[in-house]
Amino acid sequence: MSKSIENRVSLEQQAAKDEAFMRQAMALAAQAELQGEVPVGALLVKDDRVIATGYNLSICRHDASAHAEMECIRAAGQLVENYRLLDTTLYVTLEPCAMCAGAMVHARIGRLVYGADDLKTGAAGSVMDLVRNSAFNHQLEVTSGVLAGECGEQLSAFFRRRRQEKKALKMAEKKQGQ
Ligand SMILES: [Zn+2]
Repeated sequence: MSKSIENRVSLEQQAAKDEAFMRQAMALAAQAELQGEVPVGALLVKDDRVIATGYNLSICRHDASAHAEMECIRAAGQLVENYRLLDTTLYVTLEPCAMCAGAMVHARIGRLVYGADDLKTGAAGSVMDLVRNSAFNHQLEVTSGVLAGECGEQLSAFFRRRRQEKKALKMAEKKQGQ
């Protein structure tokens, strides 16, 4: 094989792996949703193996820091007994916020792969970029938009459903008040 074909094949293989891991992250996001949380899921991969997983638990835990990525980074740190998670890739269904992006830099994670952009709080390029900030001592490689449509739809379906539930509750309350 010529070098350029070889490169293309390995790029395609990486893209297929990224999609497969992102599907696993979406399944974790569904776990969060089952617990009434905003559906965001994350996992950490080293040498093509999942070493830690996490999903959003902020409401259940009464903890603003219990984002999917933080849960995942905490679990991985316990596992490897090191806060530095070198040569790992973090997959998450939604673009990380400033807190999670900061933790990824501290943990020296090598690569970030995320699904949907977060135009309101995204800190990997949308609102700001903390993961590729040259002022910091560590930058991550970033791949965005992996299964972006499906990841985004998982979130918008959740918020649609929640709005409908709130509306139904309001109408039921109104009826009772009559
Ligand atoms: Zn976050």
